[in-house]
Formats: sequence, structure tokens, C-alpha cells
Amino acid sequence: MKAITFAGFRDVEFETVEDPRIEAPTDAIVEVAVAGICGSDLHPYHEREEGLDFGTVMGHEFVGRVAEVGADVTRVKVGDVVYCPFTTNCGECHYCSVGLTSRCTRGQLFGWVGMGEGLHGGQADGVRVPLADTTLARVGDNLTHEQALMLGDVAATGYFCAEQADIKPDGIYAVIGCGPVGIMAVRAARHLGAEMVYAIDSVSERLEMAGRAGAVPINYESEDPVLALHEAADGRGADGVMEAVGSFGSARSAIELVRPGGVVSVVGVHTETEFAFSPAEAYDKNLTYKVGRCPARAYMQRLAPFVESGDLVVDDVISHRVPLADGADAYRLFDEKRDNCTKVVLKP
Ligand SMILES: [Zn+2]
Ligand SMILES: [Zn+2]
Repeated sequence: MKAITFAGFRDVEFETVEDPRIEAPTDAIVEVAVAGICGSDLHPYHEREEGLDFGTVMGHEFVGRVAEVGADVTRVKVGDVVYCPFTTNCGECHYCSVGLTSRCTRGQLFGWVGMGEGLHGGQADGVRVPLADTTLARVGDNLTHEQALMLGDVAATGYFCAEQADIKPDGIYAVIGCGPVGIMAVRAARHLGAEMVYAIDSVSERLEMAGRAGAVPINYESEDPVLALHEAADGRGADGVMEAVGSFGSARSAIELVRPGGVVSVVGVHTETEFAFSPAEAYDKNLTYKVGRCPARAYMQRLAPFVESGDLVVDDVISHRVPLADGADAYRLFDEKRDNCTKVVLKP
């Protein structure tokens, strides 16, 4: 089959790889219809995350049709259109049972193979899905492939970010980073009742999108967000800050924006080894800091009815749809934010 594979620093290739096959009786093979390129795919691409084997099939966002199932797979059937979170889920460990599915004890991240161990990703004609019965979910008739694709990561992550920020209707909130996840955090905060959400970025097209999603855009290159938020909140700062970037600078902004007693909710993938603020700063702010990978398996089906009813728009962040064969160019386009590229969907 064909796939987009990791080839080194800022290098992915469209190449022929071995077809995925059933390796355990709980596996399924999914024929991919659409696959997303995610901001977090750029971490190994830039080698900010190290240890990814050359030849690893990239990507953890995919929707497709079940082509084959192992002998012990009972819920998922051949022919089902399915969506998938970015990690596998057993459905029965402590973490799965409390809804923290992203920390499943048998969770494996799609698109990560290191020292020969791990799981290939979904930017390919097909993908092997372990623990298929509890990892995959059937896509309802009223959801498009692209909506389901967004629910498997971007929309779930944005919603999780907003829920962690403890949204109240009369609170004042800030979203740092207006990429697809940030836009979804704005939408989720609005859906949860927030009336004042400020969205911070420097890319004007992204800020316009945030505006359409219901936020007040702030371009940090021309306006000081800390000043703006403090002014809006009688000098206090934001009740909740949603950080959807994952850098030292964005973490630093979050701590400066939040009011004493407020919440900083972080879903941007961090790869640094030190916090951007000190324990003393946290103490002096009575800070609540919530961070980590979204339990997408627990969120995607819960959010599906909101998407089906049109209350939560998730697919308008997709800016580019390209054949899988053009995936390497699409990575460059996305990485360099050329051509207003916010989200790429690959079509095998
Ligand atoms: Zn993703
Ligand atoms: Zn589990």
C-alpha cells in the first residue's frame, strides 16, 4: 500500500510500504478514507520529539471503512465506517473506566514506532487498529467523514480544553493559539455558555476565523493581550486561559493572563523540560493548572450529537484537501503556514 512515512528532519515521503495485517485476534484493518495532518505531527517532523523510526507511517487522525477483523472482534464489523481516537483503548482498565481514555494502560499512539516498537499511523491506504472493539466507534449516518475525523482529535481536544477551563457564562476567557484546536476551544467555550472569549494569535486569517467562531480576536503583534484582558476584567485577568500551542512562550502568556484563583488549561503538546513559571508564581496566583492529552475516545461520541444537530461546527477549520500522493508537499505547506493552511485532509 501507499503511505506517508517519516524520513528525517523536516522530511516525509510518499512511498510503498507493507500492507497492514491482523497481528492479534483483537485487531482490525481499516481502509482509510480521510486522514488529517495534525499540529503535533510537526513535533517529530522538526525532531522536537525524538526517537521516531525512519519509515514509520505518520498520522493519528483517520476515518475509514473496516476491511478485516480478527477472530475476537465482535462489535466492529467489516464494512462499518469508523472513527478513532489517536490512541488505542482497552475499555476496561481504571483509566478507560473513569473516562481518562488517553491514559489507558494499553494505550498506544498511532503513528509512533520507536526502536521497532509501536503502531503505524493512518496517513496511508490502510491501518492496523489494535483493541478494535473498544478503540473504534461506528460513524453515525448523520456525520460526514470529515466531521468524524475532527471529532477523533481536534474537536475533542478543543472541547476538553474548554471543559477543563471551568467555563461559566459571565466569566472572561482567553484562548492562546488560533490553529484548529484553538478555534475548537473557542467554539466549545461558546457552546458551554461563555459570553466573552478572547482569542490570541498573530496570523490574521486565523484571527478572522476565531472571530467567526465567536471570539474577540487579539493580534499580539499589535496589541498587548495581558493589558487587553486586564482591562476587560476590571484589572483582574482572565478567569480561564486555554492554551492550544505548546511552547514556552505560550505557557508564559497563559500565566500572565490568568487572574488569581483562575484556571490555566493546556492541550498544546509540550516538549520542554522546565515550566515557564515558578512555583512561587503559581502559589501567588492560587493557580489551578490542568494539562495533558485529551481522552478523545471518551469525548468523540459524546460530542457527535452536537455536531449532528449543527450546534457545534467542526469541519470548517479544514483548509486543504489533497490526495495522499501529495502528502509530503502538504506537510511543507502546513508547516510553513502557506496559502492560509490551517488543516490538511489527505485522501488515500
Ligand atoms: Zn491530532
Ligand atoms: Zn484502558
